[in-house]
Amino acid sequence: MNIADSTDAQAIAVERPRTPAQLDLGQRAARVAAIAAGEADATDRGACFPRAAIAAAKADRLLGILVPREFGGEDASIFDVTDLCYTLGRACSSTGMIVAMHQTKVACIVRHGLGSAWHEALMRRLAAEQLLLASSTTEGQGGGNVRSSAAAVERDGESISLERNATVISYGAEADGVVTVARRAADAAASDQVLIAFTKDNYTLERQLEWDTLGMRGTCSGGFLLKARGVAAQILPEGYDRIHAQTMTPVAHLSWASVWAGIAAAAVDKTQAFIRKAARGAGGQLPPGAAHFTEAQAGLAKLRALITTTADMYAAREFDERALSALDFQSAINLLKVEASELAVAVVMSALSATGLSGYRNDGGSSVARNLRDVLSAPLMINNDRIRANIATATLMSGVAPRLRS
Ligand SMILES: Cc1cc2nc3c(=O)[nH]c(=O)nc-3n(C[C@H](O)[C@H](O)[C@H](O)COP(=O)(O)OP(=O)(O)OC[C@H]3O[C@@H](n4cnc5c(N)ncnc54)[C@H](O)[C@@H]3O)c2cc1C
Repeated sequence: MNIADSTDAQAIAVERPRTPAQLDLGQRAARVAAIAAGEADATDRGACFPRAAIAAAKADRLLGILVPREFGGEDASIFDVTDLCYTLGRACSSTGMIVAMHQTKVACIVRHGLGSAWHEALMRRLAAEQLLLASSTTEGQGGGNVRSSAAAVERDGESISLERNATVISYGAEADGVVTVARRAADAAASDQVLIAFTKDNYTLERQLEWDTLGMRGTCSGGFLLKARGVAAQILPEGYDRIHAQTMTPVAHLSWASVWAGIAAAAVDKTQAFIRKAARGAGGQLPPGAAHFTEAQAGLAKLRALITTTADMYAAREFDERALSALDFQSAINLLKVEASELAVAVVMSALSATGLSGYRNDGGSSVARNLRDVLSAPLMINNDRIRANIATATLMSGVAPRLRS
């Protein structure tokens, strides 16, 4: 083989798409993010499910990363998940949020389904078939009150059934399964809940409500009447109160916050390019909105610090039930959602102030319009007022830190 031949061979080797096994998680996330970015405008305009991005996430085996290696997954950590959500959120908010919600459900199954044959079999399927799981917590007129359910599991021997007025199920029509809360039994209190995993062959969805919203349009979070049938083994063995405190809230809040940080980062990216271009065009003179860019960048740094500090807190307690239930951790993980959502909105607002009309436009490379519409969902997604009200008493009981670093 002469040098020209070998160069050609190298070029072909470089160009040939590499298999997921040849790439690390960050490289696979970047590859999927590029596809998500390419369809983000169309996803938003048509309120369409980001089909190519989720297909790419499945092809790159991103949906089973949290599954333990013994069941075919990758034993990914919370840091892997939050990085993935940040990368995808930066490219397409809806894709990022879909992956964040899916990973939260998988985290619940992995942590609380170990030892249960049905859930271990589901873990194998999650890894092998890259199933996409949706989440059903919102019910009827209950809004974001996740710790209260109306619909109850009906039992008939080993068979179970559930009929639920699911006001919002993101990508419900596209998912391969749904993980839902429900009242333990017909005579149980509203807060005596279980978590159940149903696969697509277990249920039907009758559409009740469309999803035509300001932002996050690609999450396709329509309302459905969920009618499910299965076996009692599909109910996670631990009560939902524990799952909620130990896994559902921490993983949801950390991964959602990472998506919102990704949206904020995308707006900061565009603003930086805008300011640089404006300065070049004005002989080095910074435009009047430059101070808002500094604000946006500082806000993004604060947001990233908040998320990474809280992720460190979670990782340090992940397998310590007492520490996870402690007031200080529960306050921190709930406040993360409140603070991160508000910071992310503030960053994108600063980006808008810095870019002015170019940012306000729907067209052009400096538009932050979609980022702003998407990020405005953050304070509403389990309303910040509700969270603040719920933790008010608990925060009164926890003391003020005696040292800066505690
Ligand atoms: C993009 C997106 C995707 C979603 N995907 C899903 C999904 O896949 N599955 C799912 O189940 N849900 C999903 N949800 C719904 C979400 O989990 C919440 O249930 C929903 O955002 C709450 O909506 P709400 O504003 O109607 O209700 P509420 O939370 O009831 O809020 C309504 C109003 O009441 C006020 N309020 C309510 N409670 C209190 C209180 N205790 N103290 C003070 N004020 C209060 C709030 O300030 C707010 O003004 C999604 C939401 C969004 C935005």
